[in-house]
Amino acid sequence: MNSPPSCIRCDVAMELGFVPELSGQVMVSVWHPGAPTTVKQSWAERLASPGGIRFAADEVLALDAYRCPDCGRVELFALRPPGSP
Ligand SMILES: [Zn+2]
Repeated sequence: MNSPPSCIRCDVAMELGFVPELSGQVMVSVWHPGAPTTVKQSWAERLASPGGIRFAADEVLALDAYRCPDCGRVELFALRPPGSP
């Protein structure tokens, strides 16, 4: 995105940020296509060991969070591969 989007309520330029995942270490959220599916076959397996969501690293997009400085509204955009400008 070459220029920041404008807030649909206030019509002012929004500020770029990101949504960190705080689970032991700080990670950056990404967008993944499709509904989440698990690699585990049964509910018993899922309850015994949570996690195991199918993940295609080559299909994710960076998730940019733009915030309105006036009203605080946040909008998420997934337009580019992670690590690209
Ligand atoms: Zn606003």
